[in-house]
This record gives sequence, structure tokens and C-alpha cells, in this order.
Amino acid sequence: MSSIEDNLKPNVILLSTSDLEQEIRQLAEELKNIKNSNDEEHKKIYTIIDNLTRNLTWINVAKSQGIWKSKTCKHVLNFACQAWNISDENKLGIPNEAIIINDDGTKRVVVSKFPEICIVCPLYEARRS
Ligand code: SF4
Repeated sequence: MSSIEDNLKPNVILLSTSDLEQEIRQLAEELKNIKNSNDEEHKKIYTIIDNLTRNLTWINVAKSQGIWKSKTCKHVLNFACQAWNISDENKLGIPNEAIIINDDGTKRVVVSKFPEICIVCPLYEARRS
């Protein structure tokens, strides 16, 4: 495994275990108990939903940045990023359908299918043409 990928891995895993996921789990638990709810519990649920909405707004901003970077980065060739060689897409949270395997065995991410990888990528460089 390359040192570049060592740096990539924590970033992607960090996204997949976000505070948002925890909040969604918490919300699901709260909803299970809704039949016994009172005003106080309703307020708690609405506060959580407000937090989720705020976080989703920021996630959507980040996603739009990822899409823009995936479309303008000079490392993209035939829709795939040539800068990263992925060893284990499952551990990185990358969908299998976004991976292509080259003849030499290297795995590349099709960024048009998974632009999320571009969000935190430090290797971005604008394509000049
Ligand atoms: S921003 Fe990073 S992950 Fe995205 S195409 Fe460029 S080098 Fe690859």
C-alpha cells in the first residue's frame, strides 16, 4: 500500500462514521418510542431533525464541491481518477460499481460515479486546456 493511500484512508472512513450517522441512529431510537411520547420528547426529536437538516446542508455543499472537482481535475482520464490506486474499496467505503480494474491490476475510481472521493482530496489540480 502506498503512503498516499495511507493518507487517503482515514479521510474516507471519517466521512462514513460521521456525526450525522450517529444522529440518524439516535433519531431512529427516538422514533421507536414515539407512542409513549410527550411534548418534551417531541421537542427533542425536532431539535435532532434541525441538526440533521443543518448537517445535510453542509454535506450538500461538500458534495457539490466534489462534483465540481471531479469534472475539472487534471487527473481524470475517461471519467476515472488516475492519481489514486485503490487497494480495498470496501474498507474505504467506495461502491464496487465505481471501481474499474486496469490490465495491470490497478484499481481506479470512476469519479463520475463516486465524486465524494474528490471532496477532501489533496491532489486536486485544475485541468488546463
Ligand atoms: S480531486 Fe483527487 S480524487 Fe478527484 S480526480 Fe482529482 S486527484 Fe482524483
